[in-house]
Amino acid sequence: MAVMKFGGTSIGTASAMQQAMDIVAGVQKQSAPLVVLSACSGITNKLIRIAEAAGESRLDEAMGLAGEVREHHRELVETLIRNTARRASLMERIEGYISELEMLVKGVDIVGELTARSFDTFCSFGELLSTSVFCEAMRQAGHDAEWLDIREVIITDDNFGTARPLDELCERNVREVIKPLLEQGKTVITQGFIGSTKDGKTTTFGRGGSDFTAALLGAWLSAGQIQIWTDVDGVMTCDPRIVPEARSIRVMTFSEAAELAYLGAKVLHPDTIAPAVRENIPVYVLNSQRPEAKGTVITNDSELLEGMSYGGLVKSIAVKKGQCIVNFRSNRMLGRHGFLVDFFTVFARTGVSVEMISTSEVSVSLTISDSPQVEVIARELGRMGEVELEHRVATVSVVGDNLRMSKGVSGRIFSSLKDVNVRMISQGASEINVGFVVEETDVPRAVQTLHHEFFSGEEACGIFEKPVCKE
Ligand code: ASP
Ligand code: MG
Repeated sequence: MAVMKFGGTSIGTASAMQQAMDIVAGVQKQSAPLVVLSACSGITNKLIRIAEAAGESRLDEAMGLAGEVREHHRELVETLIRNTARRASLMERIEGYISELEMLVKGVDIVGELTARSFDTFCSFGELLSTSVFCEAMRQAGHDAEWLDIREVIITDDNFGTARPLDELCERNVREVIKPLLEQGKTVITQGFIGSTKDGKTTTFGRGGSDFTAALLGAWLSAGQIQIWTDVDGVMTCDPRIVPEARSIRVMTFSEAAELAYLGAKVLHPDTIAPAVRENIPVYVLNSQRPEAKGTVITNDSELLEGMSYGGLVKSIAVKKGQCIVNFRSNRMLGRHGFLVDFFTVFARTGVSVEMISTSEVSVSLTISDSPQVEVIARELGRMGEVELEHRVATVSVVGDNLRMSKGVSGRIFSSLKDVNVRMISQGASEINVGFVVEETDVPRAVQTLHHEFFSGEEACGIFEKPVCKE
């Protein structure tokens, strides 16, 4: 049994939705899947703008935007649902949601305050609307589809905006509500991202939370696989905007995916797929616009890894721009203990997260995200020693599980980069990543060189999809 999650761009227009329905119909022939949907692309952002406008008593703006949400779904209904009776009853349902939304706008406007609780309710309409249209369109096409309000199943704590599930309750609900439907051969269509407190208040997992929903449901159902359908051919060897020859990776381990996500690549966030990791359920990242492409499997299953000729030294190259190097030097560090505690307290106090570090006896270099806070930090550190900032730099990370066992990789990396001014280097912490820092203007040259070094030879063959063409 598969859990199939479709992101906003995979269901944002009538033709995208049609494409997604065809994909579901294909899987359904084998066994009924559980389908988890995001809101149509752009709708959650709009709902957030509505919430903010209502909270600041900009009533006209909020109502205008609510009208746009209505129009978007009306158009979907009109294109996808041909049967007049079905169309009318679905439109009635859409209108029901929109009037609830408008009532909420008015309520928040009267109270004059947007609470975290009402914010979550605003956000929940996107998924409720997208799944309603999708399910009706599936039924019209003759499929045995059942719409499910996931708030009956996913019961969460009351941390609105960042809710977390109450596992035991949820597992029981999955067993009692979802399993029987699937066993009857019904394709279940439900919402990602949202849940409910025990006393029935709508909550959300936070932005991008639908992937987390899919992973949770997959784990509770012991699904055979979790499919994350999006608009790229899986995880890429690097950003195709930097290297047009970037390819999609056939298979990677959970730790490689996690490392890449932390290092700035556009991959599923590791916390998101943690439930799948725990149950060792493979996660497929697939392109709904190109369903024939193989996409990427993220798994720790050794059979699956071997079967797909898992290999290659380097799996991917991640880039994080908008960084700043802080170079600090003080003779007071020499032979002293405890100095670094004072040094890092400055970062803790200003709430700035340190990313890459390299130290010697009398100096420390590190990277942080460039922001106005950098100047505050520089002032405070200035009292302890000499500080120098390098703005507009980027970290480049070369990631692969096999780096752990291989000799000479750093040598290859840095000799291939002989024409690039490398500002800082870090290796060791995770063993599966070698990271360095360059000026932002050097990123294309550095990444193209590395990509050529590691992805054009024999060692890279067999683990990649054919080249992808991006517009
Ligand atoms: N619709 C929500 C968002 O845009 C959840 C998701 O798409 O995963 O953040
Ligand atoms: Mg999304």
